[in-house]
Amino acid sequence: MPPCHPNSPTILTSQTRQRLHIHPMSKAEQHIVVIGGGPAGLRAAEVARRGGARVTLFEGQRSVGRKFLVAGKSGLNLTHSEEFEDFLTRYSGPGLPKDLWREVIAGFDSKDLREWASELGIETFVSGAGKVLPLPVDGRMRSTPLLRRWILRLRDEDVEFKTEHIWKGMGPGRQLQFQCGDETRSYDFDAVVLALGGASWPRTGSDGTWVEVLVKLGVQVAPLVGSNCGWECDWPAALLEAAEGLPLKNLRLYAGDCSSRGELVITRYGLEGAPIYRLGPALRAMDKPEVVIDFKPDQSTQQLLERFGRVQRNFVREARRRLKLDVGTAALLGYLPDRGPWRSTEQIVNEIKQCRIPLKGPRPVAEAISSAGGVTWAELDAGLMLKNLPGVFVVGEMIDWDAPTGGFLLQACFSTATHAARAALAWQLEA
Ligand SMILES: Cc1cc2nc3c(=O)[nH]c(=O)nc-3n(C[C@H](O)[C@H](O)[C@H](O)COP(=O)(O)OP(=O)(O)OC[C@H]3O[C@@H](n4cnc5c(N)ncnc54)[C@H](O)[C@@H]3O)c2cc1C
Repeated sequence: MPPCHPNSPTILTSQTRQRLHIHPMSKAEQHIVVIGGGPAGLRAAEVARRGGARVTLFEGQRSVGRKFLVAGKSGLNLTHSEEFEDFLTRYSGPGLPKDLWREVIAGFDSKDLREWASELGIETFVSGAGKVLPLPVDGRMRSTPLLRRWILRLRDEDVEFKTEHIWKGMGPGRQLQFQCGDETRSYDFDAVVLALGGASWPRTGSDGTWVEVLVKLGVQVAPLVGSNCGWECDWPAALLEAAEGLPLKNLRLYAGDCSSRGELVITRYGLEGAPIYRLGPALRAMDKPEVVIDFKPDQSTQQLLERFGRVQRNFVREARRRLKLDVGTAALLGYLPDRGPWRSTEQIVNEIKQCRIPLKGPRPVAEAISSAGGVTWAELDAGLMLKNLPGVFVVGEMIDWDAPTGGFLLQACFSTATHAARAALAWQLEA
């Protein structure tokens, strides 16, 4: 467990408890178990505890929130400031129930998330691109201060943490089974919230091994695949020599009918960058994935031809000079197979407006920022409870939704956790 931040709030006073609506534990208290100590699990524990339940949070690793810390290394996008209706359109996934999703996000939306961070003493700001980030604490923009304060507050609120407990399944009599060192331990529960994450960055603990456990329990899980990740293609050696690591700036990228603007980078194995991350769902839906690049999205073919003027030879070099193409784009035009030899300005301008690149597939899920796939929506009821395992709720990245980076992933983790924990509080096992 990371040590607590020196500026963290100290033990909660009864007034603070009242303000935070923490119900005292009652004798007939409900015991809610949360498994997985990422942001979704921590939030579910918080909501369940404040609702009056006794809460135990189990985590496979020695400390909680490891991926949350990794996410904060390059500036934590906690949520996004986009208007609610636009915000909702960022989410996709097979069978995503639109009405329920609206209810889930509205139940704890981006404003709620910013207020929640503020309660922890972490103020946020909106970046130029609309992303919401925590203001630096002690000059650092990482997620560490927020996580430390959050863990301390959960401990103060009597959430019990059990780390180095790897969930292995559910035995007869609905007992949860954990691997703890060489031992197998069993625990009872009234309701359980599974918050085991996806399968990207497995060294943080989110290794997707829960898929096998749930499948054995009869739950349908769509395979976990990389999302918000690069895509692979075969580059000729000459192209890599000329352009590996170079940016392709200010382009529009198409995957079928979907498109996205921004910058890509040519890598040894293919393409990286925000536009291709955003088009992941459309690419994954294609039998033969391919992208089409418009390198000059603000100019029509006619305008480009006029700027090009009369050229008889050295088309790539002249296009680079007269149309101000970047080095990477020129390398693509020069070395991509089945293009050229260029014989007219029309021919090369058409390629600049519509450069087709067949893709082999996404990068491995372990490298991705997030994973798509997970527990299918058909398995879940309106409270995010597994229909065939009453009392077992699912939250966070382990559900089959997908979203781009920029704060939408964490927001969905917080929202689903809030929704399911509230439903778990309301749920009672039938005697
Ligand atoms: C490099 C990187 C940068 C990112 N940046 C951002 C960003 O800026 N904004 C954003 O919105 N999102 C970002 N994300 C994504 C975001 O971190 C995840 O979507 C989020 O952490 C998922 O939360 P979760 O609680 O569902 O799962 P996780 O955070 O993955 O937590 C799951 C927890 O469950 C535990 N666990 C797994 N299996 C078991 C088991 N069998 N038994 C017990 N415990 C288990 C794991 O150890 C882990 O602690 C980033 C991700 C990466 C990798």
